Amino acid sequence: MNIIFLGPPGAGKGTQAQKICAALNIPQISTGDILRRAMKEGTETGKKAKSFIDAGQLVPDEVIIDIVKERLQMEDCQGGYILDGFPRTVPQAEALDTFATIDSVIELDVADQVLVDRLSGRRVCVKCGATYHLSMLNGETHCSNCGEELIQRNDDKAETVLARLKVYHDQTAPLIGYYEKKGLLKKIDGAQGLENTTAAILAALGAKA
Ligand code: AMP
Repeated sequence: MNIIFLGPPGAGKGTQAQKICAALNIPQISTGDILRRAMKEGTETGKKAKSFIDAGQLVPDEVIIDIVKERLQMEDCQGGYILDGFPRTVPQAEALDTFATIDSVIELDVADQVLVDRLSGRRVCVKCGATYHLSMLNGETHCSNCGEELIQRNDDKAETVLARLKVYHDQTAPLIGYYEKKGLLKKIDGAQGLENTTAAILAALGAKA
């Protein structure tokens, strides 16, 4: 099954995609993770992407479309995948239609107020990428999975969070209508708690946990 996870930053796309991928045994293709890895490794793509990401803006369509096109051709994607964070603009969705067939689009719906709190309190492990919320950490500064340091992503700082939400509403939200028209959209309440959300997504996909 080829699935898109759509939703604003902080809606839980990454966390839920990880769970659903494990349940369905398919890979999670996170364009944010791919770009962050490229920045860390200092590749040409990473260098191009950095200023956009740090400002909370989208990297140009032509940069990201080629990355995804190449990734979907790999062997592990032939039995299905979840796209987490792509497409984010109508031109990206139109490009995707030329090289992939999508079966379902899961829209995670969460109010802006909740998103601001989730993103500005988010901490991530520098090594394994596990995510936490400040309110759950009780002062802990290291990852409970691998022991490495927890940091705040540059683009989770308050001023950038608001820019990212605006970008979502202006540039990505039109995809809701785009996929609704194609009859692919399944809207899920993303504020009902982690496990309930996972169960709701699996049910919408007609899959079992
Ligand atoms: P994410 O981890 O999905 O929130 O992505 C972090 C940042 O990476 C975004 O704010 C964008 O700057 C960039 N990014 C990720 N995916 C895309 C995409 N499909 N198109 C453009 N920029 C993207």
